[in-house]
Amino acid sequence: MQWTIDLFDTNIVARNSHKTILLDPHRKQQSDFVFVSHAHTDHLYSKKGGYLTSVTLASKETSRIARERGYSLGDIIQEHSGFELLHSGHILGSKGLVIDEEIFYTGDLSTRSRSFMQPAVLPQIETLIIESTFGRPEYMFPAISEIVHSANKIISDCYNRGIPVVLMGYQLGKAQLLTELFRHWEPMYVYDSIDRINCVYRDLGIDLKQASTFQGAEKAGKIKKGIPWILISPLTHGRSKFVRELKIRYNAITIGFSGWAVNSRYKYMMGLDYALPMSDHCDFTELLAVVNKCKPKKIYTFHGFAREFATILKNMGFEAYALVKSTNVKAAHSNPMGNSRLDPYL
Ligand SMILES: [Zn+2]
Ligand SMILES: [Zn+2]
Repeated sequence: MQWTIDLFDTNIVARNSHKTILLDPHRKQQSDFVFVSHAHTDHLYSKKGGYLTSVTLASKETSRIARERGYSLGDIIQEHSGFELLHSGHILGSKGLVIDEEIFYTGDLSTRSRSFMQPAVLPQIETLIIESTFGRPEYMFPAISEIVHSANKIISDCYNRGIPVVLMGYQLGKAQLLTELFRHWEPMYVYDSIDRINCVYRDLGIDLKQASTFQGAEKAGKIKKGIPWILISPLTHGRSKFVRELKIRYNAITIGFSGWAVNSRYKYMMGLDYALPMSDHCDFTELLAVVNKCKPKKIYTFHGFAREFATILKNMGFEAYALVKSTNVKAAHSNPMGNSRLDPYL
């Protein structure tokens, strides 16, 4: 059966004469199947509408986390003939989709172990649809142990001077990893919205450290100037009201964790004291390793540097296409250095 892969508006669509499959659609479109790879909001449909579909494929974790964030996936199935959901290593419950043993759609992807996150499972496949968020050679991330070591050193220096440290990352995925990777620091507080997601992770079997919410601790008078703590917080601009107040009241310093921190301007753009390149996505070398492992005949790229990565693959001799339309205004996964809207997902 001949498959075509195409964009309909911003939806990635795989179809043959028998079925139409939407891959992480952004808008309503008639189809036989919808696949939702994970619960980041740029991969979820609007809160109100349904998917206009008979079958939605997603993991139970994705459905549960999406519900916590106000999105309903309706009835989901995790298994169906002709489909295989493979762990994609990005956040809890994230999956890639194999269609008829012929097409592999990665969703968002990470191939490195990070605390409780296992690396992605990759099939050998004819057609690969691969995310290319960091599909440019300058985006290479150091080992996780190196990043944790750098952060521990900063925290340690601050603790010696009685200064608290705010560890910032996107609240779904990154914040849970930060909660785990820095669990040895006491006291640890978490921001309210992160606490809610941490609870869902615990419900789903991840043994995250129990930490009080910062808001609760502050109300109870437990936070005092000169006594250090760490806070796991959403990634916000250093000039946001929340961060400004933490600085005025407690002299807190901020460390942001994002793949974009590879770019030295990121720290200044975000108004952070420190920025460290920790990502839930593959870096450039890891993307190339995925391509080599899957051994595809045809490759489609999406997200971030889709055009650049497709060109690099073409120069390497692959048949590669970027799934990009000029009307694609979705800001997630685009380079924040070249975009007025900052990407919170990475
Ligand atoms: Zn994602
Ligand atoms: Zn994404």
